[in-house]
Formats: sequence, structure tokens, C-alpha cells
Amino acid sequence: MDDSTDGHSSIWSRVSRFFCRDNEEKLEQAILDASADGEVEPEEKSMLLGILRFNDLLVHDTMTPRTDMDCIPLESSLAEVAKLIVESGHSRIPVFKDTRDNIVGIVHAKDILPCFIDAKSEHLSLETIMREPFFVPDTKSTRTLLQEFRTRKQHIAIALDEYGGTSGLITIEDVIEEIVGDIEDEHDAPKEEDIRALGNDVYELTGRANLEDLTELGLSLESDEVDTIGGYLCMMAGHVPGKDEVFTLEGWRITILSSDQKLIHRLRLEPFVAPDAPAHE
Ligand code: ADP
Repeated sequence: MDDSTDGHSSIWSRVSRFFCRDNEEKLEQAILDASADGEVEPEEKSMLLGILRFNDLLVHDTMTPRTDMDCIPLESSLAEVAKLIVESGHSRIPVFKDTRDNIVGIVHAKDILPCFIDAKSEHLSLETIMREPFFVPDTKSTRTLLQEFRTRKQHIAIALDEYGGTSGLITIEDVIEEIVGDIEDEHDAPKEEDIRALGNDVYELTGRANLEDLTELGLSLESDEVDTIGGYLCMMAGHVPGKDEVFTLEGWRITILSSDQKLIHRLRLEPFVAPDAPAHE
């Protein structure tokens, strides 16, 4: 088909030319240009860019962090596991011995259901029906993990930090979402947006808002130690900042809206206007 008459063949011929040259930056630019020219739809653009950025992603960037994991202690009864499955809406529950740093199994909803229709199995121990966890370092490339999920026929992995402690969990859905965007199923609770525009350059953020995403708003904060604005402010302050604590950074005023002893939950970001200075642009 002639390039000039079909937008899709045009973008694909541009893309394949750049793939041959193995030049990711130019390839990204080709996708952005093609999108600006109306040759690709916005969803196609975000998937293409997702594939490109996928190469640099690590498990740590994509996983559900340990503090958000719904887990259960090994000594729990099957009825307690069933209750957690129903309450959390998750179909696979990591099982820990003593602490969350010691995950010893994964219990699947599908393995537990038959126990409730067979009276003999109802009192089985969790240990007898849980499966062996698949552990991966949280520094593993997400792309490699996707291949491993497929070859091992696994859908969930426990991510470990460098000391062997639990860093989080990651499922095949987390990995695929990096390319196709959010996939919500019937049981997913609506997710809180990490960045919410309130108008006039004012934003409400969760403490988890990613530093990279803030660059798009014009706030460039770089750190090798932390990924989130909450982590950055805690590092800067040397403590977990409390409600109404204020920071001024790169022309922005940041006010803590809520936090607890361990985490910043919400904060407001707005242009900082110094007395007698022009407004932030
Ligand atoms: P499920 O449908 O069982 O929730 P998915 O693979 O569809 O499993 O995952 C959906 C999201 O829920 C992903 O972000 C994943 O990391 C997260 N998730 C899956 N299992 C758990 C769990 N036990 N605790 C916390 N988050 C989980």
C-alpha cells in the first residue's frame, strides 16, 4: 500500500526504518511526529511509546509495594484465606511465616474453592494447598520477567530487595499494563490518581507521585535514592513531614495535606510567588 494514502503504513515504515538503525531516541521522535501529524491515534501512540519504554523498566518500577500486599500468615485457616480473598478481591494471596519478609507460599482462590465443596478437605492446612513462590530480584528487567512468566506458566512473582527481604509483588497484569495502559477488572477498586490538576497550575498529589511524572509539570527533582515525591520530601526533611509543613522547591510551593508516622499521603503543589517577584510560569 502507498505510504502517502495510508497513515498506518506510513508510521510503520517510519518505525521499521528506525528499528533497523537501532536508534531509540529517533524512534520515539518518529512516533511523536507521526502522532502530531495525525497518523496514529493517541492510544496507539501510548502503546508504541510503552513498548519503547518497556526496555528500561525494572520490576521495582512496576510492582505492588510490600506495604500494599494482601498477605496471610501460614497458620491461618482456609476460611480466613477465603475471607481475605473476598475482602481484597485478589485471587492469589502470598503466605508468610513470622513476617512479610519471609514469604513461603502463594495460595490461589482456584485451589481453595474445591476444599469447600469437599467436607474432607475443609480442614486441610494452608501449607498443603499453597504453591511455591516464584522469587525475582526487584532489579530484574520487566521484559525478561514477562518471558519468564510465559515459559514458567506463572502469573505472579514475589520481588526481593538486595537483602533478601520482600520488596513487593508483581503479576503479569502489572507488566502488560505498562504497554496497554490500566486494565481494570470487575473487582478492582477505583485507583486514586497520583496527580490531580485542580486548575491554575495547582495540583493535588499523593505521596506516591513519581518524580519522573512531575517533570512533565515543570518540577524536575532527581534522586538515585527515591522514586516518589513523598520519599523525596522525607529525605530532604530528615523526618516524615507533618500536616501543613511547607517546602519551596524550584519555584513551587509544596504543602503537606496529610501524613502519618510513616508516610506522606497527600500534598498540594502550587507555583511559589515570592513577595515582589513575578508569578511562576
Ligand atoms: P487479581 O485479579 O487477583 O487482583 P491481577 O494479576 O489481575 O490479580 O492483579 C491486579 C493488581 O493487583 C496488580 O497491580 C497486582 O500487583 C495486584 N495484586 C495482585 N495480587 C495482590 C495481592 N495479594 N495483594 C496486593 N496486590 C495484589
